[in-house]
Amino acid sequence: MLYRMEGIVIRGTDYGEGNKIITIFTPSHGKQGIVVKGARKPKSRYASLAQLFTYGDFSFYKSGNLGSLNAGEILESYRELRENLDRSAYAAYAAEMCDRVVGEEDASGYLFHQFKACLTALAEGKDPAIVIRIFEMKVVHAVGYAPMLDECAACGRTEGGFRFSAHLGGAICERCRHQDPGALELAPQTWKLLRIFSRIDLRQLGQIDVKPAIKAQLKTAMRRWMDHHLGMKLKSVHFLDQWEKLDELPLPVRRSPPGGQEEQSE
Ligand SMILES: [Zn+2]
Repeated sequence: MLYRMEGIVIRGTDYGEGNKIITIFTPSHGKQGIVVKGARKPKSRYASLAQLFTYGDFSFYKSGNLGSLNAGEILESYRELRENLDRSAYAAYAAEMCDRVVGEEDASGYLFHQFKACLTALAEGKDPAIVIRIFEMKVVHAVGYAPMLDECAACGRTEGGFRFSAHLGGAICERCRHQDPGALELAPQTWKLLRIFSRIDLRQLGQIDVKPAIKAQLKTAMRRWMDHHLGMKLKSVHFLDQWEKLDELPLPVRRSPPGGQEEQSE
């Protein structure tokens, strides 16, 4: 049967002589694997269509799980993401999250549009350290692990003085903080941004200017959250970490647990 759908390439694997199997993330049909014959041959019409991050219109035949490309055209190449190592590293991380963290049942139309908006924002040169944190928040929401940020995850109190605990489910109040001595102390601005990230639609993101110390806290909080709840080791994270070290961000404010052993989250 012949299918036709739009999608963004989130993975490409070499296959046989000059072929590629790509995975596209679609707004209508979750994720779909497609064999692109000859995609690695220099003269292939579909070499660029099959590249990572390409947003295209794909027509393919399908009988089993895997489709076989019949025709296609590029709607948006996101060339800016491939030409710039910094943007490329963040975009690869976002694509790998869609590929490996987001399950088939969670690959919704809404998340597709958040992913596309993430690529667009990165391509436009918006601050990747903010764009990617928002997208991480969209992913944890999509897979059912959104942190509680407005009330204590342990007792439900809404009065302030919160710390951030990945183990206990997000914000924890002063009375409950003894349950997780390693919970992070975050600046008011960091809390505010985490709450905004939870609610914002990435398509509506304007320019946003955040201090490096706050960005470092956001990263630590999201990384701890994702490590604890998703437990995925993504290849692209390691590369991104090496890349970000070049920025030499200041260390986030942390509270060491009583044994002095600080949780490694970097
Ligand atoms: Zn509490």
